[in-house]
Amino acid sequence: MEIKIIEKKIKNFNLRVANGEVKLSVPLGTEKAVVDDFLNRHRQWIKEKLFAQKRIVDENSFYLLGQKKAINYLVENDQCYFKNDVLSISKNNFEKLFENFKIEYGSAIYLKLLDEYLKLFKEQQVQLMIKKYKSKWGSCQTRERIIRLNSNLIFENINFIRYIIAHEIAHLKVGGHSKKYYDWLVKHVPNHIQLKNSRRS
Ligand SMILES: [Zn+2]
Repeated sequence: MEIKIIEKKIKNFNLRVANGEVKLSVPLGTEKAVVDDFLNRHRQWIKEKLFAQKRIVDENSFYLLGQKKAINYLVENDQCYFKNDVLSISKNNFEKLFENFKIEYGSAIYLKLLDEYLKLFKEQQVQLMIKKYKSKWGSCQTRERIIRLNSNLIFENINFIRYIIAHEIAHLKVGGHSKKYYDWLVKHVPNHIQLKNSRRS
């Protein structure tokens, strides 16, 4: 993780994460050990911020299935539609509308892939829930048979989505991340490493 350290005539540390860039302003003459200690204590926070911002490029574009799409802002309230590769969306209430779009657009894709992997793994139906996670892509509640996926997953390319879904469904067979789990996964999804690496970020 690259962090830009700027020495300034200031009293307090100032840490910012914007557009995938991490900047830390520190008072003039601050010792390196003090800076390192500060960064260590904020590492998780930085990670979460970067993660959340990852696929929102800027105000006028975002990533959908790994491809950059334009955003067109509407003056009318509560409108959101995706047509001809452009997301038209009301500026008012943007956050909520965008979140709904991610969930709606995503669920159609996830349900298809879930079905595919459930069949492959010879598993019964599961319940799908999509939610905002701070720093994970998904989870699997094996006993309740609930798969939860991060709503931001829709920013990623389809192979990476496949990987996450295969990973979560495999937990129905083997819980945890033991050697047994990965052995099972390699056997049933031999290309899972390639799928995982397809994210290329
Ligand atoms: Zn897992």
